[in-house]
Amino acid sequence: GLAASARVLIFSAVLVGATVLLLTVGPLSTDQAIRRIAPVPVVVALLVGLFMAVNLAPLSVRFRGRVTLILLEETPLLLGLVAVSPLVLVMTRVVADLAVFGVVRRQAIYKCGFNLASGAMRTAIAALIYRPILDSHGVVGPYGWAAGWAALVAATLFSNISIGAVRLLFRQRRDTKYAASSLIGSALFSVASIVLAFVVLDAAVLEVWAIAPLVLVAVLIVYAYRQYLLLDDRFGALQQLYDFSRSVGVISLESTGTGWAILEQVLAVMRTRRAELVMSDGPHVHRLSLHAQAGRSRTTEPLDQSTLVAHVMAMGEAELITGRTGPRGQEVVADSLFGEFENAVAVPVSSGGHIAGVLVALDRAAGFEALSEDDLRLFEALAAHAGSTLERARLVEELRLEAESKSHQATHDSLTDLPNRTLFLEYATASIAETGRAAIALLDLDRFKEVNDTLGHGTGDRLLCEVAERLVRVVGDRASVARLGGDEFALVIPGVIGPEEAIGILRDIEAAISRPVHLDGVTLAITASAGVSLGPEHGDNVATLLQRADIAMYHAKERRSGIELYSASHDGARQRKLLLGGQLAQALSSGDQLSLMYQPIAELATGRIVRVEALARWYHPDHGQVPPDEFIHIAEQMGLISRITEFVLREGCSQLSKLRRAGFDIDLSVNLSGQDLGDPTLVPKIANALSANELLARCLSLEVTETEVMEDIAQAKEVLAELGNLGLRIAVDDYGTGYSSLAYLQSLPLDELKLDRSFVSNIATNQGNWIIVRSSIAMAHSLGLLVVAEGAEDDLTCSMLAQAGCDEMQGYYLSRPLAPADLMRWLSSRPKLTFPEQPASHPLRVVAGRGHDLV
Ligand code: C2E
Ligand code: CA
Ligand code: CA
Repeated sequence: GLAASARVLIFSAVLVGATVLLLTVGPLSTDQAIRRIAPVPVVVALLVGLFMAVNLAPLSVRFRGRVTLILLEETPLLLGLVAVSPLVLVMTRVVADLAVFGVVRRQAIYKCGFNLASGAMRTAIAALIYRPILDSHGVVGPYGWAAGWAALVAATLFSNISIGAVRLLFRQRRDTKYAASSLIGSALFSVASIVLAFVVLDAAVLEVWAIAPLVLVAVLIVYAYRQYLLLDDRFGALQQLYDFSRSVGVISLESTGTGWAILEQVLAVMRTRRAELVMSDGPHVHRLSLHAQAGRSRTTEPLDQSTLVAHVMAMGEAELITGRTGPRGQEVVADSLFGEFENAVAVPVSSGGHIAGVLVALDRAAGFEALSEDDLRLFEALAAHAGSTLERARLVEELRLEAESKSHQATHDSLTDLPNRTLFLEYATASIAETGRAAIALLDLDRFKEVNDTLGHGTGDRLLCEVAERLVRVVGDRASVARLGGDEFALVIPGVIGPEEAIGILRDIEAAISRPVHLDGVTLAITASAGVSLGPEHGDNVATLLQRADIAMYHAKERRSGIELYSASHDGARQRKLLLGGQLAQALSSGDQLSLMYQPIAELATGRIVRVEALARWYHPDHGQVPPDEFIHIAEQMGLISRITEFVLREGCSQLSKLRRAGFDIDLSVNLSGQDLGDPTLVPKIANALSANELLARCLSLEVTETEVMEDIAQAKEVLAELGNLGLRIAVDDYGTGYSSLAYLQSLPLDELKLDRSFVSNIATNQGNWIIVRSSIAMAHSLGLLVVAEGAEDDLTCSMLAQAGCDEMQGYYLSRPLAPADLMRWLSSRPKLTFPEQPASHPLRVVAGRGHDLV
């Protein structure tokens, strides 16, 4: 600060005062030279020249890695002590110093003042010691040397002490280790410098012209030494480059680690204060910068086109930037990326065949020459190594990423990115091992296959992704979600306390999934069935828990209950299924346990019974009536459905022909399973059944559910077309429960549409279903289809169906399914064409009012 520089000025003034005192009234107040070597002006001119030269071209010596500046000022000082009076010598020195510090270096006043005062004082002290010791002895010889030695050492000591004093004034601390080593270094070089001074002086005393060759030799030696230092630098640099290229082989190839390692090497090899690695990345650059003092910093910034980096990147050529050498050494250059610097070398770093970045070294460390063309070439060599190192690091990074993604791929589902079965098993095993308690849940979307087949795989995939997302979001960190394949998802819920907790999570999932999904312009209502098993109650290993969750899930699907917790009774259900499956095959062979019931279907306009639907029944000797939904499902699973269909066709057609022979002009409806459509014997079976009973093909309707048609639309189209060509009627059963649109079904050779009972049975109370039923009827009619409503259970429903223009109805209101004998009686007891005239309580009262507003 100002105070310190003021103190330095005061200190300098004290030195000047002391010097003036010594020279005027003190022991140095003499105008006598010790020995006249040459005329005073010549000597003064020579001394001014020498003083200036040694100050302007100091020798920088490295001693134990430290740089020390050596001034060879002993030579002019000793010459002056002998050849001129102390006053003249001090004045000479002051003039030379003024020229160096004031004019050439333009130091600040206090610095320049101190340097001048210290130089003057130093000179005076040398004289003060030299003269008494020499006394009247000869300059050349032991006395002369001893006096010279003492004087020069004293001058050096004073110089060090005064500099130390100034440091104190500035409160600069000094690294003592550094101070010690540089003191030893400078002492050693002082000895050499003093010896040189003796040689010059002795020669001058003998013959003044001898100074000329000596100075020349000294200059040559200094020059040679500087060259040596340069060479030494280069050699050191080469050595380090070699070390660098070897060490980068073992540097951790983690990419930024490599960047820092390269920069460390740049500082060491290029001996600069700063090193920067700037890697381009589109419009931005990532910049690693290493500063010898300030350490590391890392930034990302937009690439400014005016910067050195942009220039080097664009030109692809190395650049050396040096400020013009002005009177105070290097002039400063500025760059918006690097700020101010004195000089710099910048080289492009290529990686993978293009310029990936720029390596920059800025500002030589103190004591080293400014960066030169030679350094640029060295730097280019270094950058080439750096480039290949970075390239290698990049490749290793790529390999690492690839390996990572491979292992990710191996453990994740590629569609939803959820963990796959492998990883799920790992998680599940770990959670069971960790907590001992874990729930495993399996979740399967209902009727996903239909979405896939009707709306396409693309939509199916998007639906799965949407479901996956919802699952992950809703479970959060309560559970891990995985996709096991298809539309099957699994959860492991670690550390569950009890079933409620697991069921709670599944209820949340159920709610999340059931929100409508908007995909490709279609809105889907998704439901899922889930089964849960709990460890350790239901099993102590993943395999058992998974199997039991699967059983529970099947149970949920069958019961359409959404979520089921595993219970041992499910195993019972499973066993029953297996058992029934085996027994169904036997029942089919013997034929005495299976029978058919017939449910009448009436024309709404006339009330006439136009057909009956054959419904299969299985009376099991132990289990009693097995519900058709259950045994039909079992038959489908066990591949027995074609035999059931064959039985129904045979039995149904024979019953129909009996009814027809009895005078009832009615037709028959038979249910087909989806599997029947793939059965090559289906058409011959039907033909056999018809011909065996002398029936025409148009008496027989075949009902296929919309879902089953969709399972293999191409095959369905083909088989249904063939059947249609035979004259059979084709009906779509359970219409409205699937995803197909009428427009889609239009491409099939259909005759009838059976509206599912789940819509029909509540049209009186459910406005939405009423709208669906009405619009379905209208649309089916526009496609030329006959519409049958199933599940009409009361007269209001019937009248509404009639109002909507529905053609036929089937339902408990008309009749439950009937055994053949009951059917015969039921048909006989009904006055066939009279019911439009029936009283108001009659189920078909409303048909009379078709077209009128009776409802
Ligand atoms: P489906 O083809 O939709 O048959 C109509 C079902 O609705 C019959 O049940 C019938 O009893 C019932 N139903 C009729 N009117 C009403 C009503 O007003 N209210 C109510 N709630 N239900 C009514 P069922 O006989 O239990 O048959 C169930 C399902 O089993 C059938 O549904 C059909 O999909 C299948 N099925 C029955 N027999 C056969 C068969 O021979 N072959 C094939 N492949 N499937 C069959
Ligand atoms: Ca049916
Ligand atoms: Ca149906």
